[in-house]
Amino acid sequence: MGLICQLPRAERAKLQRMLIGSQVNALDLETYLTQRRFADGRVCPICGGTHVLRNGRRRSGAQKFICKDCGKTFSISKNTVFSGTRKGLAVWMEYLNCMAEGLSLDKSAERCGITHSTAFAWRHKILDAIGKGTEGDSLAGIVEADETFLPVSYKGDRRAESKERPSRKRGGEIHRRGLSDEFVCIPCAIDRRGNALSKVAKLGKCSTQAVDVVLGGRIDQQATLYTDGDAAYRRFSRANGHTLVQIKGGRGTVKGIYHI
Ligand SMILES: [Zn+2]
Repeated sequence: MGLICQLPRAERAKLQRMLIGSQVNALDLETYLTQRRFADGRVCPICGGTHVLRNGRRRSGAQKFICKDCGKTFSISKNTVFSGTRKGLAVWMEYLNCMAEGLSLDKSAERCGITHSTAFAWRHKILDAIGKGTEGDSLAGIVEADETFLPVSYKGDRRAESKERPSRKRGGEIHRRGLSDEFVCIPCAIDRRGNALSKVAKLGKCSTQAVDVVLGGRIDQQATLYTDGDAAYRRFSRANGHTLVQIKGGRGTVKGIYHI
């Protein structure tokens, strides 16, 4: 059983949105990436040229493009977490769904038709990307901030399991209900230009410190922060002099974070 089943329903929905973006459910990943990459027309990710044409498909089925300015070919997943693998985007999409559902590595591997070690590598690629993909961005104007949680899955990672903790007895209770140390907190924020910040901050509940780790010094002084009712954001915005609007029971504030 995935630890994620212990997440309150609202948190689970949030995590799902963050991993795949609310729009993606209706679309496939390739369409989604295409829309994001070429939102302002077809631009080459290598030279910035605008004479980009379709150029056949890779064996995995991925659409290839060629840039007439620099002569290079690229696929839509260039510079994303999905690039450089031989698996098609449909497999990645399935894997993201597995992750959002909190399936174990073995279960995910089985459902996606990949090996256990590929599943392991992908999980870390994705978690890494959540942290690194947004470094350097800073946010301004209307900024929506929220946090989500991912289960710390020791299950299926035999090394971590044996080193860091005694493994739980089968069917044993998780120490506490709710957002215990079994989860990592991932504060995230996005502004209206689509710039986003997110990073794995800590184990357990969201705190001012966790928010500070991710958002501290990265939000324009004049920005207006929109968050849920969490006290961590009140303390953060007071300390940093931001205007704060808290939406009671705020749900679905952060979406489309997933531009890794
Ligand atoms: Zn080019």
